[in-house]
Amino acid sequence: MVKLLPERARVVIVGGGVIGCSIAYHLVKIGWQDVVLLERKQLTCGTTWHAAGLIGQLRDNQTLTKLAKYTAELYLELEKETGQATGYKVNGSLAIATTDGRFEDLKRRADMAKVFGLKVDVINARACQDYFPLMNIEDVIGGVFIPSDGQANPIDITLGLAKGARMGGAEIFEDTLVTKVNHDGECVTGVETEMGTVEANYVVLCCGMWTREFARNIGVTVPLHACEHFYVVTEPFEGVTPDLPVVRDYDAYAYYKEDAGKLLVGAFEPVAKPWAMKGIPDDFCFDELPDDFDHFQPILEGAMHRVPSLEKVGIQKFFCGPESFTPDNRYQIGPAPELKNLFIAAGLNSIGIQSAGGIGKVISEWIRDGYPPSDLASVDIRRNMPFQGNPNYLRDRVTETLGLLYAVHWPFYQYETARNVRMSPFHEHLSEQGACFGEIAGWERPNWFAPKRTEPN
Ligand SMILES: Cc1cc2nc3c(=O)[nH]c(=O)nc-3n(C[C@H](O)[C@H](O)[C@H](O)COP(=O)(O)OP(=O)(O)OC[C@H]3O[C@@H](n4cnc5c(N)ncnc54)[C@H](O)[C@@H]3O)c2cc1C
Repeated sequence: MVKLLPERARVVIVGGGVIGCSIAYHLVKIGWQDVVLLERKQLTCGTTWHAAGLIGQLRDNQTLTKLAKYTAELYLELEKETGQATGYKVNGSLAIATTDGRFEDLKRRADMAKVFGLKVDVINARACQDYFPLMNIEDVIGGVFIPSDGQANPIDITLGLAKGARMGGAEIFEDTLVTKVNHDGECVTGVETEMGTVEANYVVLCCGMWTREFARNIGVTVPLHACEHFYVVTEPFEGVTPDLPVVRDYDAYAYYKEDAGKLLVGAFEPVAKPWAMKGIPDDFCFDELPDDFDHFQPILEGAMHRVPSLEKVGIQKFFCGPESFTPDNRYQIGPAPELKNLFIAAGLNSIGIQSAGGIGKVISEWIRDGYPPSDLASVDIRRNMPFQGNPNYLRDRVTETLGLLYAVHWPFYQYETARNVRMSPFHEHLSEQGACFGEIAGWERPNWFAPKRTEPN
């Protein structure tokens, strides 16, 4: 029997990826059962289904670390609670450093993580190899090991969250495209779907890479742009055992994960490939993008240096799928400033699986209380400027931001792409005086002046 859409709900969630399902799960946990989730095709069919499933907790700021830590704790219990297998295993993660600057960066992050009670061990190169015997350590200085990190199956995690949400009273409808958010000019009133109207007090947009264009139709700015995102999976080979930790070789822009006796090698290349400049195809559903071996080649060469046995192993699968990236590598979450009671949760920058638990928790509490449960300013959607919704600006910026996820986190870093958006009438004059510009909210301002006969850079 076909289930009919309800005429109204307290909260309508648009999008059935890991983020939408987690928000539904957490809303019922705080006692809001009158929740409806609408998915245009099938749960997980956007970006979620093809994620590598790394669940890491060490992030570059306190907010993200807290959300990731909560997520890891939630996934540990999800299977017990819902009966849905999650494929979650706690095999630990190892981040290695091949430069002094990188090691310093890792140690700083490790110190911050310890503040949240996360056990992090700073180890030498030999100990790195003990954890991951396939590794060549000739250029490794050291690393940090987090025993409570792990990996999971993203589809099963999402289905577990969806099951938990249903058990708590939420209703989930697949094959239900939301065509419009209804509002009275100030506040949301519900949504329009192909199956009819649902009135709602709150609407949450969790449409992944679709969110920017969908929100733009109602005058809401959500700066994100899809990029191609790659990994390869090798043939099975000796030494790839289920207890291997996830390895992140940041200096080589690569990560490694055991995958049923095979090795998955993923990339965060320094110059990324934006995708869907002409829009996302309407029928996109569990789709893959064409492979690009030339683009992946430098990562593969680095991988053969790090794991020499890869030289003799075949590639079983080359995978390329789209993921959303934002101009500053921070999520876009919270209440849209343009429309009351419209919440956004998108722009996950390739950490959506490991962030989903935390995001579901904070968004549900934010909706209930009308204010965020903790300091979320760095990821709050209200930090953006309207110009940042411009697709050309975003296309240029995300070529850089994807790779920065694996770069050393230098303080006061200045982006190289999508610059000179806003310049004062004095810009040329300041430039002639040797100004080295920095960007704040799109404005170019002199950070310092180069002495005569030197180049500001
Ligand atoms: C190659 C690759 C590897 C990755 N590896 C990892 C990893 O190891 N760890 C990690 O944490 N993250 C990883 N990620 C990132 C992770 O997959 C994403 O961040 C996450 O899946 C985003 O979830 P989402 O719910 O925001 O988006 P999606 O999964 O895309 O969900 C959005 C949903 O909204 C639906 N939708 C859109 N518009 C409408 C509409 N109008 N009406 C109804 N429904 C609509 C879509 O159909 C879709 O199902 C990886 C990503 C890629 C591409």
